[in-house]
Amino acid sequence: MPADEKLWKEALDCIYAQRNDPILRAFVADTCLQRDDTVLTLFVHNELVLNILRSRYYTILVEALEKASGVEQLQLDFRVQQPPVEKTHQLALFHANGDRKAAPNLNPSFTFSTFVVGENNRMTHAAALAVSQNPGRTYNPLFIYGGVGLGKTHLLHSIGHCLLEFPAPDFDLAYSTAENFTNEFISSLQEKRMNEFRHKYRACDALLIDDIQFLAQKAETQEAFFHIFNTLIESGRQIVLTSDRSPRELRDIEARLVSRFTAGLITDVQPPDFETRVAILQKKAEKMEASVPPDVTALIAGSFNSNIRELEGALNRVVSCASIMNRPLTVETATEALKGLLSQQRKPLSIESIVRSVSEEFNILLEDINGKTRSKEVVLPRQIAMYLCRNLTQASLPDIGRKIGGRDHTTVLHSVSKIEQLLKENSTLDRRVNGLLNRLKASQ
Ligand code: ADP
Ligand code: MG
Repeated sequence: MPADEKLWKEALDCIYAQRNDPILRAFVADTCLQRDDTVLTLFVHNELVLNILRSRYYTILVEALEKASGVEQLQLDFRVQQPPVEKTHQLALFHANGDRKAAPNLNPSFTFSTFVVGENNRMTHAAALAVSQNPGRTYNPLFIYGGVGLGKTHLLHSIGHCLLEFPAPDFDLAYSTAENFTNEFISSLQEKRMNEFRHKYRACDALLIDDIQFLAQKAETQEAFFHIFNTLIESGRQIVLTSDRSPRELRDIEARLVSRFTAGLITDVQPPDFETRVAILQKKAEKMEASVPPDVTALIAGSFNSNIRELEGALNRVVSCASIMNRPLTVETATEALKGLLSQQRKPLSIESIVRSVSEEFNILLEDINGKTRSKEVVLPRQIAMYLCRNLTQASLPDIGRKIGGRDHTTVLHSVSKIEQLLKENSTLDRRVNGLLNRLKASQ
């Protein structure tokens, strides 16, 4: 092994020994190091990888390289270099026909550069980037879930745009919503074009499917998808799925399919916090070339707290109202423009609607949650209902107790802390309860 390659390998091994970092692994795959005395140059495939390595990993990489080489004060530079064709991705070998397919139906504004990263989506964004850089080699499948309007489709399309640029000859990308996939499957069956359908989805190098929960109750489409899924995964081709809920929460989708969804990385997007909402609004305003004062941005960010689509809608409305009314964009103009929207916003969630959602989620009768039974299957959902009411409503403990089976406020308090503790210990339950919490929030 050449000396530079050996040094690079030792440095990476040294990092991996201390931290399991699949994202770093994804970004350094196929990079190449060149040493010239104390100056090291790392050759990477593109600008995106270069920026991530430089901004997030510089110190870690330099320290590891210094340790591995025994030389202090090394300088590490980065340079973009396209890999030679023969070294490009093996996925191209799977390519069935020589022509690059027409670009799939991706929204041109949904790219990584327009996506604002916050605490709510940091992990998912990193995983999406990793998959875009090394399809089929990091997380497969990548399963992204979260409430309505939180950026799942945006991230999926961003991956798509990146993969269209993937430096393998004839890299084929297939993108579809699960609804479209279902319609295509049905019409292919009716029109006896199954071979064409199978070929389209089995011959691609990466498959992106949006809103996979739509496959619920569609047994035949699930069957077709199951075989496509297996063919692609077995031959190392990338699959990315989005869903409005975690795999465990999916209803009426075959267990064998759900279990395959969990084989790679499952990652979620949460509602953005205030700062992220402000950053999203600023980015959007920039794109609209509108100058929106900070107090107006703050007003909007403070009024719409869960769904980013609504946040954007509110900004559009404010900007266009100011322009139509020919008024300066002030808090007064914004408040007036948002009047209708604000009054529709935040209809408070009722205890009854929360209990109903919990009963549906856990398949327990409403009467049982509100009743006296103390069986384990009922007690946990009942405690979860109390926990959710405490977190999603302004209702007092006695109120919650009264409405959930006429219980004492101390029972409610006990239930809430019990669930808080359980969620810390049990990540599966944590995901399930949080998924429900987000959906309830988004339904507000
Ligand atoms: P979902 O698929 O989760 O329902 P979308 O991806 O359609 O949501 O996002 C809804 C809208 O919010 C889109 O216009 C999208 O561009 C925008 N959006 C969501 N998250 C972000 C983000 N982090 N940064 C910028 N825009 C975002
Ligand atoms: Mg979507």
